[in-house]
Amino acid sequence: QDTTFKNVISHAKEYGYIFSSSEIYDGLNAVYDYGQNGVELKKNIREYWWKSMVQIHQNIVGLDAAILMHPTTWKASGHVDAFNDPLIDNKDSKKRYRADVLVEDYAEKIHQKAEKEIAKAKKRFGDAFNEEEFVTTNPRVLRYRQEQKEILERLAKSLTDGDLADVKLLIEELGIACPASGSKNWTDVRQFNLMFGTKLGADAETATDLYLRPETAQGIFVNFLNVQKSGRMKIPFGIAQTGKAFRNEIVARQFIFRMREFEQMEMQFFVRPGEELKWYEHWKETRLNWHLSLGLGKENYRFHDHEKLAHYANAAADIEFDFPFGFKELEGIHSRTDFDLKAHEEHSGKKLQFFDPELGENYVPYVVETSIGLDRMFLAVLSKSLVEEDLGNGNSRTVLKLPSILAPTKVAVFPLVKKDGLPELAEQIVEDLKWDFNVLYDEKDAVGKRYRRQDAAGTPFCITVDHDSLEDQTVTIRHRDSMEQSRVNISDLKSIIGKALDF
Ligand code: ATP
Repeated sequence: QDTTFKNVISHAKEYGYIFSSSEIYDGLNAVYDYGQNGVELKKNIREYWWKSMVQIHQNIVGLDAAILMHPTTWKASGHVDAFNDPLIDNKDSKKRYRADVLVEDYAEKIHQKAEKEIAKAKKRFGDAFNEEEFVTTNPRVLRYRQEQKEILERLAKSLTDGDLADVKLLIEELGIACPASGSKNWTDVRQFNLMFGTKLGADAETATDLYLRPETAQGIFVNFLNVQKSGRMKIPFGIAQTGKAFRNEIVARQFIFRMREFEQMEMQFFVRPGEELKWYEHWKETRLNWHLSLGLGKENYRFHDHEKLAHYANAAADIEFDFPFGFKELEGIHSRTDFDLKAHEEHSGKKLQFFDPELGENYVPYVVETSIGLDRMFLAVLSKSLVEEDLGNGNSRTVLKLPSILAPTKVAVFPLVKKDGLPELAEQIVEDLKWDFNVLYDEKDAVGKRYRRQDAAGTPFCITVDHDSLEDQTVTIRHRDSMEQSRVNISDLKSIIGKALDF
């Protein structure tokens, strides 16, 4: 049974995964630090992504571009003009909200009403229930769904048209109240740019205004020719990058789901014009399979195809994940056309083209992008892995069933007791394994308690050294998820653990 979101947050802190930033000063809203276990889990997710995207693909290479970029980059990319959130304030409570989120939350409530009707009918009719027939004929469900659809369509249209007055009108017509105070006294809606500004240079007058990058993708676009030429890359090929991005999110909530400083893992795949939709389908499928390979459960993922497309895209889909607060975007796959490279050509005056030897012509490649938030992936993995397991007889245990390949510590080694030479043998095993795996030594408390501690921290294997070990050079190995124990030779440990962690 999944534990609640609150448990995930407190567990993350208790076991050294995530702390609030500058906590002794009461923290900084929507900024977080990764503790001793968090940094390992995050690194392992990043490496798992990198291996799958770069190492096993001959035609995908890596890049590490700077966070600070020439300011014209963000003119060209459209971020200066179009990277905005529509904000609204409540005049009574003085609280600030994202106007689109207020409307989306309202639409979600209507969606929930329809879901309730369906669940009720399911209960009433039992096995005889035909959901498809019910949702296409039940007048209440039809009305709720129609209402939800109309609201979201109108919101999308107003936002695309930049008609902020209509967004306000919509909020008033729906009678949406301030979640904090219940007041319906709203200000006008206005645009707020999400980029963090900073200055280059010491002199106030001559300093240049810069931005902290709001996405890593642009570092790839501006280096397209550098990589293509120096790596003699032939289309189709990809450039992958992981790194920090910054967004001055106004509605920063839900723990590390929406942060102001976060890390992205992006890959831009350059293709022949006209072949982009084929590659878009390819990467949608490949990325979903990557997620499924971690074994968190197929039912936790779904695609959401975008009807409303960003200015640069001709197809876009999200891979959504069932977070503790519902299905939300985890990764985006976007067919970005030649928008970015063309815009950089225009603004820089430099050609960003590829000579295709097979076609015998030059062109600006089209781009298919896969973009995932590392922190969001961290939250997905952490929240699905944390379970409270009923062991019968009124006993239970907290266990973090992380995919072994991602677990911060792979093996914990215990001497059964703190004497008779057992600690020495256990430490010898640690010494031997530490070159291949993250290993932890623990001799405090009874062995059962030590097992529980490692269960909760997510360690997939525990090894216990006892008196027999001194005689026959065997130890007990215990598996986190099954709690099964078996006796194995010390000399086989490396290969047993290694096998379980195969990529
Ligand atoms: P959202 O709609 O949730 O704001 P987005 O559509 O703006 O996300 P993209 O610009 O497509 O997101 O960014 C790609 C990925 O980066 C997202 O799928 C998400 O995993 C991650 N991401 C974006 N913004 C944040 C954030 N503020 N905090 C953490 N991760 C983020």
